[in-house]
Amino acid sequence: MSKKDKLNLLGLNQESLTKLFESLGEKPYRVKQLMQWIYKYHELDFDKMLNFSKNLRQQLSEMACIELPKVAKQDHALDGVIKWVIDTGRDNFIETVYIPSDDRGTLCISSQVGCSLDCTFCSTGMQGFNRNLSVAEIIGQVMLANHYLKDKSKRISNVVFMGMGEPLLNEKAVYPACDLLLDGLAFGLSRRKVTVSTSGVVPALLRMADRVPVSLAVSLHAADDSLRDELVPINQKYPIKDLLEACKVYLNAGTQERHILFEYVMLDGVNDSVAQAKKLVTVLKGMSAKVNLIPFNPFPETQYKTSKEVTIKNFQDVLFAGGIRTTTRRTRGEDVNAACGQLAGQVVDKTKRTKKIL
Ligand code: SAH
Ligand code: SF4
Repeated sequence: MSKKDKLNLLGLNQESLTKLFESLGEKPYRVKQLMQWIYKYHELDFDKMLNFSKNLRQQLSEMACIELPKVAKQDHALDGVIKWVIDTGRDNFIETVYIPSDDRGTLCISSQVGCSLDCTFCSTGMQGFNRNLSVAEIIGQVMLANHYLKDKSKRISNVVFMGMGEPLLNEKAVYPACDLLLDGLAFGLSRRKVTVSTSGVVPALLRMADRVPVSLAVSLHAADDSLRDELVPINQKYPIKDLLEACKVYLNAGTQERHILFEYVMLDGVNDSVAQAKKLVTVLKGMSAKVNLIPFNPFPETQYKTSKEVTIKNFQDVLFAGGIRTTTRRTRGEDVNAACGQLAGQVVDKTKRTKKIL
């Protein structure tokens, strides 16, 4: 069997690994041992897993592999941000970003090669869409960052699906990846430290509410449908009212208390007026919500400009006055194009878009 045809065990959660080991006539406790080798000891070679019988090691080597994504480039920004450009084959590249701060290390991961949703202010959207990433390709981003950081005594405390792609258009891979991020035998992160960010794919959001107990960020960016239709075109299909109803379902699901982070990119003269801020207060009233204002990060070909500092402050003051918890995101990793919305990777567009960066 060529390496290409082998099953990449990185993509399998505990349940799937148990099925696989059962099919090999192995006891379930072997799954725990395997996961320890992979996630605790970072061992990718079956031959070195010495508590497995020779026969099992051989069987695994023949049918499976543990393969990390291929790093094409690693960039270091002056503020400590690290960006990995990952080769996903056929001239496609995705990006993963590590953002260190005093009390945490956040890894921003991609879920798709490009994105089909075409938000007007997003450089990933402008590149078009090629394909969904597999669970192994998603988890592989965390593995390879972990691998690099552990030697530098740095750690990943939070994982956010805020890189390239719309995670809720790749539910098949994103949910099992979340399982592994939360699983104590794999990454063991708490549900509050794993965040799925969505532009508002309502049916998927309703499914997610029951399927994975992770944190939710919603890219709102406008407080009325006419403006949101323009900035986030999926709003034409799932308008704000439907989106907020789905948000309420998410908030009421599960056994533990939940909150939502609403992201709002600040675009000069577009969505940053005091009137929009007031509408936003009305829209979010009564919800367990926090707003994160993101100064727009420019990229080539964009017409948008970042809101002025004073405008962002005024906008934030209106939200404060309306009783809404609000933070403004500090832009990080700009010098290596690693800031929010600057991730472009390289995407061989399979959609019929006319609008492209190149
Ligand atoms: N597709 C998902 C997650 C990836 S984008 C989503 O849209 O939520 C992560 C965040 O970056 C989103 O809130 C997105 O709206 C924001 N973003 C996109 N382009 C941006 C830009 N140029 N400047 C600042 N934020 C941007
Ligand atoms: Fe896709 Fe999110 Fe970019 Fe919109 S903001 S185009 S949903 S990646």
